[in-house]
Amino acid sequence: MKSDATDAQVAAVLDVIKELGFKPHPMPGATRTAIGITGNQGSVDTTRFENLPGVAEAIRVSKPYKLITLDLRPDRTVVRVGDAKIGDDELAIIAGPCAVESREQAFAIAEVVKRSGARFFRGGAFKPRTSPYAFQGLGEEALKIMAEIREAYGLKIVTEAIDESSVDLVERYADVIQIGARSMQNFSLLKRAGRSKLPVLLKRGLSATLDEWLLAAEYIMAEGNYQVVLCERGVRTFAQHTRNTMDLAAIPAVRRISHLPVIVDPSHGTGKNYMVTPLARAGVAVGADGLIVEVHDHPDRALSDGAQALTLDQYETLVAEVRAIHEVIAPASVV
Ligand code: PEP
Ligand code: MN
Repeated sequence: MKSDATDAQVAAVLDVIKELGFKPHPMPGATRTAIGITGNQGSVDTTRFENLPGVAEAIRVSKPYKLITLDLRPDRTVVRVGDAKIGDDELAIIAGPCAVESREQAFAIAEVVKRSGARFFRGGAFKPRTSPYAFQGLGEEALKIMAEIREAYGLKIVTEAIDESSVDLVERYADVIQIGARSMQNFSLLKRAGRSKLPVLLKRGLSATLDEWLLAAEYIMAEGNYQVVLCERGVRTFAQHTRNTMDLAAIPAVRRISHLPVIVDPSHGTGKNYMVTPLARAGVAVGADGLIVEVHDHPDRALSDGAQALTLDQYETLVAEVRAIHEVIAPASVV
């Protein structure tokens, strides 16, 4: 729409799109509103829209995805979680244990996360473990503990939903729905998250191409939830020196195509404590909007992912270092 288009003109265009049997996706930006159209099987005649009052231009998006693209929305998306943001000038830091194991453990970690200035606390309640015999998470009890952490420290809670019913629970207690690498192509879960009012943190699948990952984000957005954060967490390769290979080039690749914020997970991206800080630095240097990192008060006793957990001291050092790097890297200018 033109920058001076009125609300009534935007509404009239939405009506025309609906009359044609398609779904409109209005996305207000800093200067103008873009309206995406989905639900069409073939191409849509752009002249149908070009002459409507307030319309600046009708663009055919020839890529497999539409709503995630910079073609549709040249302004970068800033995901808002209350007064905290992901995708603006400030580096977003999401930190906490792989899994919430007890109230004491979660609070001991949250205190340090809060002190570091991070705005987000992560903690698994439902753990998608490779083995059915491994610790599966405390479930709703963990969510209740994190709701207390939110209350006590004002941290926003990021936690994984592994199926549609766990989305209901996450919505009740948390602030951001994490969709894990193993669930990236669980399409009914993606659609359910797309109908949520909460922002979604979408991890890249273990062997997902860039297009598959972006199309998973498109699934969420096609349902009407435009608050999506992408997260590079490493993919499976022949490398044996890491748990996963953290694909740093994915960050500029995403930023070239999409307006969505993209963060890195150097914990799952390496699987090794001593590699987390170097890869966190690198992720920020290549333009990530933030990072999600696993921290534990006693990594040696952790019930999951202890080998990659940072100690509280290591975490505080990491925060200082990545902030210093971020200051000299303005992400918007990286690509
Ligand atoms: C996690 O964040 O603890 C997790 C299970 O991540 P991923 O889905 O990336 O393996
Ligand atoms: Mn983990």
